[in-house]
Amino acid sequence: MMMKVIKSIAEMKNWSDEQRFRSRKISFVPTMGFLHEGHLSLIRKARELADRVVVSIYVNPAQFAPGEDLDQYPRGMERDLDLCVNEHVDVVFNPETTSIYPRDFKSYVITEDISKVLCGISRPHHFRGVSTICCKLFNIVKPHIAVFGQKDAQQAIIIKRMVVDLNLDIEIAVQPTIREPDGLAMSSRNKYLNPRERAEATVLFKSLQLAKEAFDHGKLNLEEIKMQMYQFIEQHSSGKIDYIEFIDAQNLNTAQPEQSDTLIAIAVFFGNTRLIDNIIIPKRD
Ligand code: AMP
Repeated sequence: MMMKVIKSIAEMKNWSDEQRFRSRKISFVPTMGFLHEGHLSLIRKARELADRVVVSIYVNPAQFAPGEDLDQYPRGMERDLDLCVNEHVDVVFNPETTSIYPRDFKSYVITEDISKVLCGISRPHHFRGVSTICCKLFNIVKPHIAVFGQKDAQQAIIIKRMVVDLNLDIEIAVQPTIREPDGLAMSSRNKYLNPRERAEATVLFKSLQLAKEAFDHGKLNLEEIKMQMYQFIEQHSSGKIDYIEFIDAQNLNTAQPEQSDTLIAIAVFFGNTRLIDNIIIPKRD
């Protein structure tokens, strides 16, 4: 089957209705394009989980604050389409902003407190934009399964919450973070880094590894581990730490390493580029 590129919301809905009518299972990977191996790993998982795979490529203005990188966000449609053909994607959905957010658009999805911690502190409207676009895309693409990356841990938790709270009939699958050989989590934003920043950016993953080792050696004083991470990053890079947090990996509440898995999440600025990363430390028995 030839890959289709669909721009119209009505056409996307019709395509999905037809697939569902023919009892085809649809999986969906929402992206902002400029695809890398991280995205491709989600697409491969989506391929494995369903009969039809839809990838959306849409840089969603609602999740960028004024002054953020909406206009500079890297784009590369031709290359993205080639990569999707290689992965046997059935449809790339690439809508226009005028149809996604018409002038009289007024409705947003807000997941209360979990969107106000971690990245929500420095990006107060970000997750409102993310949950709104995901809800809209789910209604347009009508997938049975949507695949997200663990790289954006808070996003995955918020989307899972939204799906439960709004009774959406969609299964959410979360896939591991894909990294460069030196440990840096792949991200479309890595392109913004100059060579010095790119070299220094390995401190995110290295500091997470440091924390994991401390946990593995039985250290449970989270404040102490956090201090070690701060010191490591400050000594080995020019990055400005936005946050380092230890929280419950299921619900973003205070970490309870002996009761549940702990998410260690980190955000660091290199110049104007804000990078995030995280790891999960399994609950201690
Ligand atoms: P984005 O295009 O950055 O909005 O990301 C689209 C999807 O790809 C999201 O579910 C991300 O979590 C996921 N993703 C981004 N980077 C990675 C990565 N390095 N490994 C795995 N998934 C990723």
